[in-house]
Amino acid sequence: MDYRAEMRELREKLNHNAYLYYVLDAPTMPDYDYDRLSRRLEELEREHPEEITPDSPTQRIGDHILEGFTPYSHAVPLESLQDVFSADEVAEFCGRTEEALGTDSVEYSLEPKVDGLSVALEYRDGVFVSGATRGDGRVGEDVTENLRTIRSIPMSLPEKLPRLIVRGEVYMARSVFAELNAQREIRGEPLLANPRNAAAGSLRQLDPKIAAGRRLDIQIFNLQLAEGRKFVSHTETLDYLSSQQFKVIPHRVEHTVQGCQQEISDINERRMDYPFDMDGAVIKVNSLADRELLGSTVKCPKWAIAYKYPPEKKLSRVLDIVVQVGRTGVLTPRAVLEPVHLAGTTVQSATLHNEDYIKSKDIRIGDTVMVQKAGEIIPEIVEVERSRRPEGTEPYRMPQTCPACGAPVYRDADGAAVRCTGAECPAQLLRNIAHFASRDAMDIDGLGPAVIQQMIDAGLIRSAADLYDLQAQDIAQLDRMGEKSAENAVAAIAKSKDNDLSKLLYGLGIRQVGVKAARVLSAHFRSFDALAAASAEELTQIGDVGEITARSILDWLASPQSQDLIAHLKSSGVRMESGEKPADQRFSGMTFVLTGTLSGYDRKTAEELIESRGGKAASSVSKRTTYVVAGEEAGSKLRKAQELGVPVLSEEEFAQMLQ
Ligand code: AMP
Repeated sequence: MDYRAEMRELREKLNHNAYLYYVLDAPTMPDYDYDRLSRRLEELEREHPEEITPDSPTQRIGDHILEGFTPYSHAVPLESLQDVFSADEVAEFCGRTEEALGTDSVEYSLEPKVDGLSVALEYRDGVFVSGATRGDGRVGEDVTENLRTIRSIPMSLPEKLPRLIVRGEVYMARSVFAELNAQREIRGEPLLANPRNAAAGSLRQLDPKIAAGRRLDIQIFNLQLAEGRKFVSHTETLDYLSSQQFKVIPHRVEHTVQGCQQEISDINERRMDYPFDMDGAVIKVNSLADRELLGSTVKCPKWAIAYKYPPEKKLSRVLDIVVQVGRTGVLTPRAVLEPVHLAGTTVQSATLHNEDYIKSKDIRIGDTVMVQKAGEIIPEIVEVERSRRPEGTEPYRMPQTCPACGAPVYRDADGAAVRCTGAECPAQLLRNIAHFASRDAMDIDGLGPAVIQQMIDAGLIRSAADLYDLQAQDIAQLDRMGEKSAENAVAAIAKSKDNDLSKLLYGLGIRQVGVKAARVLSAHFRSFDALAAASAEELTQIGDVGEITARSILDWLASPQSQDLIAHLKSSGVRMESGEKPADQRFSGMTFVLTGTLSGYDRKTAEELIESRGGKAASSVSKRTTYVVAGEEAGSKLRKAQELGVPVLSEEEFAQMLQ
C-alpha cells in the first residue's frame, strides 16, 4: 500500500476509535492495538512530514507554548440566558411564549445546564479550524490549541459543509476532577477549587500540554451556523450534530407546562447520572422559525430560559459524629445522618468542617437538624432544631488523639484545623512517603505515588525509613515492576542515603519546614543531632525561622514516632550531616567521645579528624557511643564508658586508626 493511503487509513481507524471511546463511551479497540497504530502513524509522519493533516490524532497536543490568546469575533453571538427560580416562572415563560406565537401547542426542548464554560467551534470544509471562549458574547479568545486536546471534539466531520459553527460547554468530569485533586494533594500542590474553575483555568493555559493533562470534555448544545443546510427544529440540529460525531447534550421534548416542570424535576433526579456538574435546566423553544419570531433582548434570547434549582432542605437526625483523617493529617468531623433524599441523591452524611463550626452551631449527636444540598455542593447542616433536642446530650468534643493512629493531635497555629502528629499515621502514609521521595526531598528516582501505594498495600513499608530495608526481590513482585526496575529502585534508594541534611530535613515533612527553611536549618546546625539539641530560643534566633516554625520543629522532635523514624534512618546509614561528604568514610556510622588531654592534638583538631573520615564527635557518652578516646587525666566520661561497656581507645590506638 502506498504510504499516503496507509496514513489515511491509520488516521481514520484511530479517529473512529477515539469517537467510540470519547463520545459514545463504548471503546472496541484494545489499548494495545490503539497504541501500536498510533506509533505506526507517528513513524510515517516523521518520514513524510508534508503529509501530516490537521485532523491527525497526533496533532491534538501542540508542543509550542503560546504567548497569549488572540481575539476571535463570533460570527453568531453567544447569548446569555435569563434565569428563573420557580415553577411559576416556568409557567409564565410558557404562557408568554404561547401568547406571542398565538398558539397553545409549542414544543420545548429541555436540557441540563452544564456548569462549565461556553465555547464556539468552527469547521471549514469539514475540518476543525478554530475555537474560542465566549468572552462578551461577540468577541472571545482564540483557544484553538487547547480545544484540540479535548478528545471528544472531532477534528474532521463526515459531511464537509463549507462552514459550520457549533456551541458547547467545556467541563471537567467530576471523576477526573476528583482524580486530579487526589494526585495534587499527594504532591502537595494547591487543590483545584471546583470542576468549573478547573475547566476554565485549563482552557486558558498557554501550554497546550497542561491543558491536555486536565482531560477536559464537552457537551454540544447548539448549532450556530451551517452553510448549505436547512433545519426546522433545534432537536433536528442536535440529531444532525450527533451524526457528525459530536458529543451532544442530553435533551427531551415536552409540549405542556406540566411536562416541562416534570422534566425539570427529573433532570434534577438524574443529576448524578451525568458526568458533569450542572447548575440548572434549560428550556428552549424547539421550532427554529418560532425562535426567529420571538427574537432576543440585548443579551438573552426570548425563546429560552434557565431554571436554577433552589437548594433543597429537609429534616434529618444526627446519628453520630465521626472523624476522618485526611492525607495531610487534618481531622475532619462528619455527621452521620438518618438518610434523606435531597437534590437527586440520598444524603447520609454532612460535613462539619472543623471544631469551631460544630461549636458555633452547637451540633450534638441525637440532634434533629435541617440539612441542605445545593447542586453538587456537599450537604450541610443549616441549623439545629433546638426544641427537638433529646435529654442528656452533650456538646461535641474533638478527640485528643488521632482516630487513625492514636498519636496526639494539635490545633494548627494558623487556623481552626486539628492535625495528627503521627509520623507513621496510616492515613498520611502515602503522602508522607511520597513527599520523602520527591525531587526536592530525598529525590529517589522512579518512586512515584503509584509505586509507593503498591508498596504500602503489599505491606512492604510502613514508614519512609522502611524504604531502606527493601530488597530488589520484594519490589520485583509488584505490578508492572520487572527485575531491572526493581534493582534500579533499590539503587536509587541507596543513593539517597548520601544526600545533604537539607534534603532529609525537608523530606521529613515537618510542618512549616519547606525547602528554604530546611536549607537554612541545615546550614546553621550542620548535623541533625545539633538541630535536635537546639532550644526554642536558639531556633528563633536563626533568620527565617519564626516562633511557629520553631514550635512545629520541637513538637515534631518530641513525638516518639518521629524519634523512632530518625533512629531507623540512622541505623540504615542515612546521612545526617550537611555539607560536602568527606571522601574518606572509614569512620562512617561511628560516634567518638574525647576525654582528658591528648598530647598530639588539641580537642578541635581531633574532632575535625574524626569528621573528615565520616565519623561523628559527641560530647557525652551513651550506649550509642562507638569509642571513647581517653587522654591524660580522663575523668567521669571514662568511668561512664567502663560502666556502659563502651570500648576505650588510648591516644596511640586512636592515632593508628587515623592513619
Ligand atoms: P449564564 O452564563 O448564567 O447566563 O447562563 C448561560 C450559559 O449557560 C450559556 O452561556 C452556556 O454557556 C451555558 N449552558 C450550559 N448548558 C447549556 C444548554 N444546555 N443550553 C444552553 N446554554 C447552556
